[in-house]
Amino acid sequence: RELNVDLGERSYPIYIGEGLINEAASYFQKHGIGKKSPLLIITDSNVAPRHLPQLEESLRNGGYRAVSAVVPAGESSKSLAMLGDLVGEALDAGLDRKSVIVALGGGVVGDLAGFVAASYMRGIKFVQIPTTILAHDSSVGGKVAVNHPKAKNIIGAFHQPEFVLYDLGTLQTLPPRDVSSGLAEVVKHGLIRDAAFVDWCEQNADKLRALDADSLGYALYKGCGVKASVVSQDEKELGLRAILNLGHTIGHALEAVAGYNELQHGEAISIGMVGAARLGVRCGAPQDVYTTTKRVLAKCGLPVSLPKHYDVDAIMAAMMHDKKFSEGTMVFIVPTAIGSVEIRSDVSVEWVREIVEELKLEA
Ligand code: NAD
Ligand code: ZN
Repeated sequence: RELNVDLGERSYPIYIGEGLINEAASYFQKHGIGKKSPLLIITDSNVAPRHLPQLEESLRNGGYRAVSAVVPAGESSKSLAMLGDLVGEALDAGLDRKSVIVALGGGVVGDLAGFVAASYMRGIKFVQIPTTILAHDSSVGGKVAVNHPKAKNIIGAFHQPEFVLYDLGTLQTLPPRDVSSGLAEVVKHGLIRDAAFVDWCEQNADKLRALDADSLGYALYKGCGVKASVVSQDEKELGLRAILNLGHTIGHALEAVAGYNELQHGEAISIGMVGAARLGVRCGAPQDVYTTTKRVLAKCGLPVSLPKHYDVDAIMAAMMHDKKFSEGTMVFIVPTAIGSVEIRSDVSVEWVREIVEELKLEA
């Protein structure tokens, strides 16, 4: 399958299929990437042993010179220190303005490698080869970043890739928890824009969790499609793009309170989306917004309530820290039906607090 992210001059395609890594060189060639300048592949310590040799071989056979840098797996690699190290590697490898950075990995590698590409010599090209389901989200939209100890994703840029090569074969080695976590963003894209797709996710949740390639290919195609359509209407996040944050207001607060190791991103936003659905019903949406959201996410193997030991005060404090709010109200992405959401700026903080308490009671 192939899909275009429509961004005028910065438009790029996403290729989705099995075994695409083995044909990587021909995709590089097709996109006019020359063979004189070296490439730098950035990947992590989980992905490297599983999928790096294949990519290196395929690029080498196609006549490309590629150097690889392997960072430790995990969110802590999205740091300024790591950016510095990688720039060092890029210099050592002799990368010039015509060189291309290749991100082979999940969202962490994509964000990090993308930011190296955005900043090295004021910006060189990059290619994304996502190896997680969650990375379907990060591979569309061009947001790249590293973290600061005080805030996530706070040092970053908008830098669009030349193309995205989604090899479904690489997903076969994903641990079950990462599979479910990634499905949370897939379902999110349905909840925002596409009720029929939410229904499809529910019907095919078991196949998706079993990594059935056909089902995965379709889910990623649809998920990337929704994100691409929202992003192309609002590349720099001036308005509409905020709807992609469904579930993230509560979700980010949970991640901050739980620590990024206890709760995975998709797990946190799953709970957040159930909270948003509850809020939606409170704001007048039909009850099925809540029941369906909860049922589909649970079928994907995701948590849909808040573990008992979470402190509601701490969660609210994290949310207030994260979001602008005034006079007891806050901006919130609220579902109005399955497949549609609205951005509301008048949501009562007190209601949100009650919702978080209810999420906990459900556990
Ligand atoms: P990740 O990159 O850390 O991957 C999750 C885990 O899976 C890691 O341990 C990784 O080593 C491992 N892994 C990756 N591919 C594998 C494979 N094929 N087989 C076995 N193990 C594999 O995290 P993620 O969940 O992909 O992404 C989360 C990150 O994405 C966060 O940093 C988040 O901020 C970022 N993100 C960015 C955007 C954006 O728009 N830029 C959007 C959503 C998320
Ligand atoms: Zn997210």
